[in-house]
Amino acid sequence: MGKEILQDRPISHRKLVLVLLLGFGPGLVALTTLAAVYLVLNAAINGAGHTFGYKSFANDATNLRLLALITFGEGLHNNHHARPASPKLAAFRGEFDPAWPVIRLLVALRLAEVLSKADEGWENHRRRIPRTVVSP
Ligand SMILES: [Zn+2]
Repeated sequence: MGKEILQDRPISHRKLVLVLLLGFGPGLVALTTLAAVYLVLNAAINGAGHTFGYKSFANDATNLRLLALITFGEGLHNNHHARPASPKLAAFRGEFDPAWPVIRLLVALRLAEVLSKADEGWENHRRRIPRTVVSP
């Protein structure tokens, strides 16, 4: 998966603060929901993102636009495998990485810095194979 650096473990000290702030019952429900969503979406990316969808690049992964919308771009898994260090996962017209506008906003507010060039290097990774639809 991409953006591993930005991701957190399902249960961390910061999430335990959630339990303290919300109270034990609601906090535990929020924590459990967060952990379950994290695990399900991770499984979806690594399962469906290697099984269903379309390929633009010659690698094992696939792109699923709908999955990309709910996983902040990670559903564009074929693109991620083509260029794993890129903070921007959308490579072609019609693909949308919801995390990219957020990253750009944080950069504009000087709260974040993009260490690699998001668009640099894609020319070496432009669609190498005809768009291929994959299903089991
Ligand atoms: Zn993968």
